[in-house]
Amino acid sequence: MSIDNSYDLIIIGTGAGGGTLAYKLAATGKKILILERGTYLPKEKANWSTAEVYGKERYHTQEQWYDSAGRPFRPQMSYWVDGNTKVYGAALLRLRERDFEAVEHKNGISPAWVLKYHDFEPYYTQAEKLYEVHGQQGEDPTEPPRSGKYAYPPVSHEPRMQQLSDAIAKQGLHPFHLPLGLKLNEVDRTLSTCIRCDTCDGFPCLVNGKADAEVKGITPALKFPNVTLKTVAKVMRLLTSESGREITSVEAEIDGQMHQFQGDVVVVACGATNSAALLLRSANDKRSPSQWTC
Ligand SMILES: Cc1cc2nc3c(=O)[nH]c(=O)nc-3n(C[C@H](O)[C@H](O)[C@H](O)COP(=O)(O)OP(=O)(O)OC[C@H]3O[C@@H](n4cnc5c(N)ncnc54)[C@H](O)[C@@H]3O)c2cc1C
Ligand code: SF4
Repeated sequence: MSIDNSYDLIIIGTGAGGGTLAYKLAATGKKILILERGTYLPKEKANWSTAEVYGKERYHTQEQWYDSAGRPFRPQMSYWVDGNTKVYGAALLRLRERDFEAVEHKNGISPAWVLKYHDFEPYYTQAEKLYEVHGQQGEDPTEPPRSGKYAYPPVSHEPRMQQLSDAIAKQGLHPFHLPLGLKLNEVDRTLSTCIRCDTCDGFPCLVNGKADAEVKGITPALKFPNVTLKTVAKVMRLLTSESGREITSVEAEIDGQMHQFQGDVVVVACGATNSAALLLRSANDKRSPSQWTC
């Protein structure tokens, strides 16, 4: 094991969280290391094949997880540069104001957030611009207050969808255009990256038409010389100071070897489950890394 390098910032994971953060901070000139356990997802015909993507789960991890009763299952998890946004549906809705308050669930209360919707509103606006979100303000009665209109027009309905939308509206209901993050130009199709193919949600985009974390975050971030991405770098553990209050370094497995990286700031952006798993491994696991299973 060796101390390889030290950085101002280490970001673990390249999905919606990590990829977007890397993009935002790249221009600061800070020395940034991004660690991602996956590789780039290959561009191949199978990207748009239902049989491959859903039938054979070609892009899902082969890992086996266990439920609370100890039953094994395969998580529908994708480990690629770009994380789950490689296969997401690009429907980018804002949380509602009430989502930041205490919410009672079947198994307990999710406490109120310290920050509220209005604290996030300016960042939603920035993120919608970055992710080219196409939407129509004022259609959705549950929509929270916005400081401005969508920067991109709503994605037009296909004829059958328009009929359905009209029929639903006639009943006094409020169908709305789903806000979608697409590199789509319906006015001048020659300028459009998205071709409105028959797939999208659940599929990788063969033509990079989806505004995902690779296209919008990682690729532009890597244009800055101060940003380094290491792929197939699975972070196994966060190491702390003696008090246990500060993360001092990050331990990652690369090519079967353990490496340590030091960071003034460490951002854990491995997705909801894997971030929790990493924190638990770091806090509790006294076994050697070779004995870990996830
Ligand atoms: C099929 C599908 C459709 C979806 N559609 C939508 C949608 O339309 N709209 C929407 O808002 N959301 C959608 N989602 C959810 C959305 O993709 C996720 O909420 C979002 O990607 C979460 O971002 P994240 O950064 O937290 O995690 P992720 O995007 O999952 O990224 C985590 C990254 O961390 C990496 N990683 C994990 N563990 C480690 C480790 N130990 N070391 C190093 N790297 C690690 C992973 O490989 C991954 O790249 C969809 C998800 C799926 C699966
Ligand atoms: S071409 Fe457009 S509709 Fe098809 S997968 Fe790509 S972004 Fe989605």
